[in-house]
Amino acid sequence: MTDLMTTGDPAGIAAGSPTAVFAARESTVRSYSRTYPAVLASARGTTVVGEDGTEYVDFFSGAGALNYGHNHPHIKRRVVDYLGGDGLVHALDCHTPAKREFLDRFGREILEPRGMDHRIQFCGGTGTDAVEAALKLARKHTGRSKVIAFSGSYHGVSRGSLAATSDLRLRRTAGVALDEVTFLPFPVGPRGGFATTALLEQLLTDDLSGVEPPAAVILEVVQMEGGVFRIPDAALRSLRSLCDAHGIVLIVDDIQAGCGRTGGFFSFERSGVVPDLITMSKSISGLGLPMSLLLIRGGMDSWEPGDHPGTFRGNQLAFVAGTAALDLWRSEDFLTTARRGAELLRRFWRDNTLPGLVVRCEGHAVGVDLTALGGGATASAVVARCFERGVIVESTGRDKAVLKLLPPLVADADTLGLGCATVLEAILHTLAENQISPDAKP
Ligand code: PMP
Repeated sequence: MTDLMTTGDPAGIAAGSPTAVFAARESTVRSYSRTYPAVLASARGTTVVGEDGTEYVDFFSGAGALNYGHNHPHIKRRVVDYLGGDGLVHALDCHTPAKREFLDRFGREILEPRGMDHRIQFCGGTGTDAVEAALKLARKHTGRSKVIAFSGSYHGVSRGSLAATSDLRLRRTAGVALDEVTFLPFPVGPRGGFATTALLEQLLTDDLSGVEPPAAVILEVVQMEGGVFRIPDAALRSLRSLCDAHGIVLIVDDIQAGCGRTGGFFSFERSGVVPDLITMSKSISGLGLPMSLLLIRGGMDSWEPGDHPGTFRGNQLAFVAGTAALDLWRSEDFLTTARRGAELLRRFWRDNTLPGLVVRCEGHAVGVDLTALGGGATASAVVARCFERGVIVESTGRDKAVLKLLPPLVADADTLGLGCATVLEAILHTLAENQISPDAKP
């Protein structure tokens, strides 16, 4: 019997509990709604409000799509004005004033000051399509097919990007072979450090290694779904040199770690490395609107016109919102709040340590690792308690044992303090309830 048959007719569903229709009508594939089982109706800044009036502090930011908070007034105003003037909403990849302004401003505000000569390719609305484009272009450019990716990586769930995503459960959903990608251990991870670049160098210079020279190496500078692990700057630099020496395209997936989430605008900035291809999505449109793009280093734009089409490459509202978001990168207010916020997060988790608790702070991405304190079971109880107490957080990484705190960059000190204190209380409460002592071992 289907859910619908057991639940009754649509009118009956509508008259039932506020979530009955989701259970009856929506696919079982839904996921976040199971972790946050409320009906979320409105939002402003760092606050999300449920249909029943319950307020939540957002420490998840739409998985990194809301770095500027919900409905940022400056960004929202531009979008409302644009719609009010009957601005074009959908335009395939035609020229429009909204796209012109985004391209011009992104070039002047982001690329030029960093000495980057990258061209901008607009992809379909989701991050995975930018990753598909990056992998295709690297293969086209080099004439090679293999790709090196890393354990702990997440690059999306369409076929090409899923092939470079390390989560075995997700990979099995493909139902076909996901080949052409070789995984190496990330230089940092739960099992310690690996000299990955040296290993790769050895493989590429040994004609009996069995490893073909790859088209690309793809990585997240800060692995976010992997549990908030940052590749050391020196390791990233040596990877860059290795790619140069062997004609390999270096792809950085900055879809979640970029747009200020882990430090500068790009996650790789502080290392001095400039990747050949950079994927961006999530917060690039400022307001949470779908948009993704690929930055292509000068001389590497070897596409023929129309090689990577897509109906939704011209979301004009996203261009308008994304341009307005760039204004914030000139605002002392925004930059100071973001800098202070990152410091506060680091200080809080330095001053509130527990035996067995490992915390990794990367700007506004904090990985609170509960591996040694009951692992995934503890983390999921903490996530549930946080939600009950009005804070939205997620757990990720191996065994989903790492709490990933992603507050908006605009969060003030009080909000950050309240969110972190709630998470800490939830950890202590869960440990006490399950009689786990804070120095437990995995
Ligand atoms: N790459 C990274 C690093 C991501 O975090 C994500 C989304 N979590 C993706 C790619 C895929 O983006 P989307 O879900 O928009 O397809």
